[in-house]
Amino acid sequence: MNELGSIWRRWQGHLVIVGIALLILLIWRFGLRPTIVAVAEGEPVGEDTAVSELLATTEPDATADPLQFGAGDLPVLDDNSLAPAPNPLTFEGELPQHEFITHTVVRGETPNGIADQYGIEAETILGGNPRLSEESSLLQVGTELIILPIDGVLHDVQPGDTLESVSLQYGIPVEDIIAYEPNNLEFPYRLQPETQILVPGAVRELFVWTPPDLSSVGGTSSEGGSVRPIIVGTGTFIYPVNSRNFTQYFWYGHPGIDIALPEGSPVYASDTGTVTFAGWNVYGYGNLIVVNHGNGYETFYGHLSSFNVVPGQIVYQGNVIGGTGNTGNSSGPHIHFEIRINNNRDNPCWYIGC
Ligand SMILES: [Zn+2]
Repeated sequence: MNELGSIWRRWQGHLVIVGIALLILLIWRFGLRPTIVAVAEGEPVGEDTAVSELLATTEPDATADPLQFGAGDLPVLDDNSLAPAPNPLTFEGELPQHEFITHTVVRGETPNGIADQYGIEAETILGGNPRLSEESSLLQVGTELIILPIDGVLHDVQPGDTLESVSLQYGIPVEDIIAYEPNNLEFPYRLQPETQILVPGAVRELFVWTPPDLSSVGGTSSEGGSVRPIIVGTGTFIYPVNSRNFTQYFWYGHPGIDIALPEGSPVYASDTGTVTFAGWNVYGYGNLIVVNHGNGYETFYGHLSSFNVVPGQIVYQGNVIGGTGNTGNSSGPHIHFEIRINNNRDNPCWYIGC
């Protein structure tokens, strides 16, 4: 026992060193090395278990993938941990190369008509021209529109955008964005800020401002309940102004109709209801009145110069509620008239005839 003890004491130091060396070798072999190879080389590494697993989980379905990746190309499309962080200072790769047609709006043209002319959807006019959604009157004679060659959205790349974040934002697979050749995207698919990529099949979402509901404007009794019975409209709608000089119709990028007429002209309640909003709206409507008709319908009267009503007031079909104007995002005296049914925007022409 004494002899064994002295041998152990003589060799234990060496055994600890050998043990540590083995541990380092194991970590290097199965831990770090495959990741480094996957990023830097992109080569298949034969029997290496970690790399085999990586390939098994990320290899695209050859029948579904239009790019036809080879097995060794490591098309890691949805794993942020493997892609280098997007850094504009180290951007390497091709910049997008787009060629768009420019269309100058002439008198009498509508967004739907322009879209038909180029074989795209009306939504795509908004997809290529985001400012149009800010207000209607931007689509005037002389306005220059970017016409995208296919349906989709032209996305301004922001710092921090990745292919994955853009894919999530529009609900379009990364493969579809890569497959659109003028985007010039190559592995590792970094996006360069201040460029634009076309997201095929995407639709630009519109911001929809929601007015207060009826319960928020009703008077309250001493018990706290509403004292005013909800007044219900007739279900029919009349012209809100004495003019049929339409300057823009309803389409995806413009959820109402615009009717031009001199400032200060009377604005009529299109149907009976309760005023839920009468004031300044910061989302482009300017001075705005909203009437809730108690039957799911609401009407909107935008860009006004004056108000004859206050929130909570009951109005009857044909009552003068305000005066037309040129407030908010408006480039000339007109009224913006909207009809919503259960918070969805509908085409007013279906109700009042245009
Ligand atoms: Zn409008």
